[in-house]
Amino acid sequence: MIVAVASGKGGTGKTTLSAALADSLEQEVTLLDCDVEEPNAALLLHPEWEDRYPVHTPVPVYQADCCTQCGECVSVCTYNALAKIGDWIMVFNQLCHGCGACVYFCTTGSLSEDAREIGSVQCGRSGRIQVVQGLLNLGEVLAPTVIKAVKRESGGASRVIIDCPPGTSCPVIAALDQVDFCLIVAEDSAFGLHDMQALMEVLRVMHVPFGVIVNRAGLGDGRVLRFCRQEGVKVLESVPFDRQIARLTGRGRLFTAEIPEWREKMRRVWSEVEGMVSGARAGSA
Ligand code: SF4
Ligand code: SF4
Repeated sequence: MIVAVASGKGGTGKTTLSAALADSLEQEVTLLDCDVEEPNAALLLHPEWEDRYPVHTPVPVYQADCCTQCGECVSVCTYNALAKIGDWIMVFNQLCHGCGACVYFCTTGSLSEDAREIGSVQCGRSGRIQVVQGLLNLGEVLAPTVIKAVKRESGGASRVIIDCPPGTSCPVIAALDQVDFCLIVAEDSAFGLHDMQALMEVLRVMHVPFGVIVNRAGLGDGRVLRFCRQEGVKVLESVPFDRQIARLTGRGRLFTAEIPEWREKMRRVWSEVEGMVSGARAGSA
């Protein structure tokens, strides 16, 4: 089962809850930190890193000798990563999405492909938890490419938790692709509600079933819970705004490891999700 933990906005406690969920399980679990612009699940899980390798994307390399200046490469590039300047084709590497269209359509062989490093994947272990994190290099934009590389590391593991990037843009879509369930972490505030609704819209389009964990519950006016009740959205847990949890997290310690009651509660969340996913599978069989 692959469970994504996502939030419509940053700073909701998504990573804390991803790590807590992984920590609460008694069996082997793989945690994929797909928040590749700022992976920080490792700050709570403290894995021993075993491997690290670079992630590349293909980019075109231009050779002017045989170029006929036809401009075909420029017109097929939907990302505006190529420009014809005088009698030269300029490649803007940072804008290139590595689709290969320009190389394919160039009939003179003036464009060839090279690999450009844009980030890395790091693999390690923290007890029963296999930890994989992606890191996008500074100034790079192709987060989905690094996220896909991180996801390949799950290698068909039976329990996978994905710590998604925040928001609802392309990196989130890449992280949510092929997951069985999404736990939305939402704060009880006007922004929290708005961003949770945006994420729900994305999940509905992607046909990903979801439930909600309200984090720092008690700080707001209950609007997230009211909305979930009205819409029939399952609220799987409410984690209160609690000084002990905040203190532990701030010191890089998992609240589930220190407060047994919370380990049990998070384990129950996993079991409930498991029940919903198997129910859905049985229903569609
Ligand atoms: S590989 Fe694709 S995105 Fe990159 S320059 Fe060529 S056409 Fe544009
Ligand atoms: S498609 Fe090839 S030949 Fe035409 S302008 Fe681009 S590089 Fe030159």
